[in-house]
Amino acid sequence: MSLRLHAPVVLPCDESCTVLRDAVVDISSDGRISFVGPVSEAPSFDGDVRRLTGILLPGLVNTHAHSPMTVLRGLGSDLPLLRWLREAIWPAEARLAPADVRTGMLLGAVEMLRNGVTTSAEMYFHGEELVSAVLEAGSRVVFGSAILDLPGMPWRSMTDAITRWIDADGLRFGPGERIELGYGPHSAYMLSPSALASIADLVRARGALMQIHVAEAQDEDLAQRESHGSVPRLLASAGVLGGRVLSAHSVHLSPEDIKIYASHGVGVAHCPGSNGKLASGVAPVVSLREAGVNVGLGTDGPASNDDLDLFEEMRLAALYARVTSLDASALGAAGALLMATREGAAALGRSDIGALESGRWADVVHVAADDPAFACGLDTPSSQLLANLVWGSGSRRVTDVWVAGSQVVSGGESTLVDRVAAQRAVASVSARLR
Ligand SMILES: [Zn+2]
Repeated sequence: MSLRLHAPVVLPCDESCTVLRDAVVDISSDGRISFVGPVSEAPSFDGDVRRLTGILLPGLVNTHAHSPMTVLRGLGSDLPLLRWLREAIWPAEARLAPADVRTGMLLGAVEMLRNGVTTSAEMYFHGEELVSAVLEAGSRVVFGSAILDLPGMPWRSMTDAITRWIDADGLRFGPGERIELGYGPHSAYMLSPSALASIADLVRARGALMQIHVAEAQDEDLAQRESHGSVPRLLASAGVLGGRVLSAHSVHLSPEDIKIYASHGVGVAHCPGSNGKLASGVAPVVSLREAGVNVGLGTDGPASNDDLDLFEEMRLAALYARVTSLDASALGAAGALLMATREGAAALGRSDIGALESGRWADVVHVAADDPAFACGLDTPSSQLLANLVWGSGSRRVTDVWVAGSQVVSGGESTLVDRVAAQRAVASVSARLR
């Protein structure tokens, strides 16, 4: 059945971050948007009409996450990156059963939806369980099947497994194409250049997305930088770039690295919360965007952030960009909002999500206006309204969320999953892993 959402404010997240007043989002029965604009210009409509009192915006796109790690949240907190991985996270992950990944992802998906995040790019393992949790919660995922090279787990068999799955089920499937499958080679310090190049061939042949960690901490890829100058140079010279590639973190990049990314169409997942907590540094977001690189925002895993709140990442991205440049105009509320939506989708190589535009999937968030952050009203000038949303209210008044036109959050709670039961299930996994 078709649905019209009618609100005082609609933010389509077009390139200029237009603020529409007294506007509608029309959703056709296939879950896609058929019209967005002021009600005065809308076509006649005979479907279900929902009157809303706040702000409609596209579902946020989390470009880098390991959400099943909700079962490890807070573990090893306050250790630096490599010690945190080696001493706390990897030993615990080695004890995770496939069902634990489902349990962790289910709560992660519910938590993200409640924060207005409808899509997450996930690098993890036990993909079938992860995908099953996403379908239960009703969110959307771009799954990058983690590929490492470990004793007893050679990279080639991990790669073959995801290739077989893609070739069997297709790149995208599920209601509203909620699931996209892809490759998640961990990093250039965990895999050889020739392994990365072989994976890249498979990625390009299928039009899939490669998700990879690049230049997160200064001490993580010393040998690779020694031999190639930088990880982006290694990736370029090995023939890894050129398809859909998402470079997570990308903190320690030179101007030449940025040019390599721009010329190869590499997308970047900027994870300011995780990079701050692990003291990794601040990615050169302003220079990347000026060079034409699509930069999205990512939460990273809930064991290193520790929430799954992309509104918080908007604020941190803007704050870090301003503090590191001593320029209050370096990144504004509109720019941060676009990174969390349209630009994040583009960084994933997706033009069917991340904006309220005719033809895209109807992934829509409603932020209620009943909040001190909006006490000045919704009829404030556009710049003030965007500031109130990004700097003031954040995620706390996300009350309703639709994915492919189906309502998955109502009154701030999942319509499909018992959140308290999902939390209880995480508690029992966590107790076993301690
Ligand atoms: Zn990561």
